[in-house]
Amino acid sequence: MNEFDIIVIGGGILGIAHAYHCLQAGLKVALIERDAYPNGATVRNFGQVVPSGMDLKWQQYGRESLTVYKEIQSKADISVKQEGSIYLASNSEEAQLLEELASINQENNYRSELWTKEQCLDHYPGLRQTYVKAGLFFPEEIKLDPRVAARRIIEYCVAELGLNYFSRRTIIDIASLPGQQLLTDNLGRTYRCKKTFLCGGTEFQLLFPDIFNQSDLVRVKLQMMETVPQKKQIIPGSVLSGWTIRRYESFHECPSFSAIKAQEDADAYHLKLGIHILFKQSPDGGVIIGDSHEYASVKEGEPFSLGTDNEINCFILSQAQRIFQLEDWQISRTWVGEYSQCQEQDIFNETIEQDIHIVTGIGGKGMTGALGYAKENVHNLLSLNLETI
Ligand SMILES: Cc1cc2nc3c(=O)[nH]c(=O)nc-3n(C[C@H](O)[C@H](O)[C@H](O)COP(=O)(O)OP(=O)(O)OC[C@H]3O[C@@H](n4cnc5c(N)ncnc54)[C@H](O)[C@@H]3O)c2cc1C
Repeated sequence: MNEFDIIVIGGGILGIAHAYHCLQAGLKVALIERDAYPNGATVRNFGQVVPSGMDLKWQQYGRESLTVYKEIQSKADISVKQEGSIYLASNSEEAQLLEELASINQENNYRSELWTKEQCLDHYPGLRQTYVKAGLFFPEEIKLDPRVAARRIIEYCVAELGLNYFSRRTIIDIASLPGQQLLTDNLGRTYRCKKTFLCGGTEFQLLFPDIFNQSDLVRVKLQMMETVPQKKQIIPGSVLSGWTIRRYESFHECPSFSAIKAQEDADAYHLKLGIHILFKQSPDGGVIIGDSHEYASVKEGEPFSLGTDNEINCFILSQAQRIFQLEDWQISRTWVGEYSQCQEQDIFNETIEQDIHIVTGIGGKGMTGALGYAKENVHNLLSLNLETI
């Protein structure tokens, strides 16, 4: 009988995170995913878990996520590697922001280390001495292979925590009955539960389209690429560069941020396309490089051009070459990813008919923030309704 305390729709990181914390609370949980395994933003991202880039609220969620990832990794190999993250300043303004963020982190009890140019060059062979002026290093932070991690966390939840995982099933209807919901999938199979979390990522047409059409959610398209394998591992952890310092929310809290941003040319190509340069090296030696950001309202039908814009990728590659020297810059693959994001709020979290919770629009912070955010969300929502679970 398909009856559960909780059903989570969507096997991306937000859905996984809600299922995980409901299981931790001892509930009978089902996770329903329309593909065999998640195939959305959750498996197309960098896999950089970087609370250092978030505002103070989301840094806390990110720090909680680090704890959860590391805890699961201690029981099952989900590809987590603790190699730290570094932000590289390319000029004195960016170096100033690094110093300011370091002192904010100190007050906030989050460990970071200011590195000299020489320390950066020693730690990252191939880093160009013409680019780097200083660095800010976060030793606690991790990287993971998102495709491996998503699958293995689901498998771990099934094997160790009793998760019921239904793949290749698309939920097309949710009916609210007294004290329960009746969900129907694309083949007419039904599932009952007392509480539903809908974590559908960028799927806005199948369920509650009116709610999404009235929201301020946008779709965001990102472009990524990976080089052929390099002979050596030269980029440990996550590397974020000067344009990231000028973009990520943590730096908005620095006293000099506004004045430095005010001097930028808003028409610059990289600002118009939300381009900043990030690196991560895969276990096989390929260097993953990104990314760009294009925005479209959820109300538009087919908002983005198909596939990859070559001009954007050529630009990203040329900028990456200013930062690192690699033995082989040949690109082995390119891809696009899409996530949803709110324009005004930090996440879309709406409850309808008391026990249906729509959680999406986590933006570019999902791999970092979802596990921490979901812990708080599940606990808040369950304690509100404990007697009905
Ligand atoms: C290129 C790129 C790089 C990024 N890099 C990072 C990074 O380094 N660090 C970081 O923190 N974040 C990063 N992000 C952001 C992160 O990937 C997203 O925030 C996160 O994956 C969003 O997760 P989600 O669960 O909301 O959505 P998704 O991953 O899109 O998952 C939604 C799932 O719901 C399923 N679904 C939808 N509707 C139904 C239905 N009706 N029935 C059944 N299943 C359904 C879909 O099949 C899908 O698997 C990046 C994103 C991209 C695109």
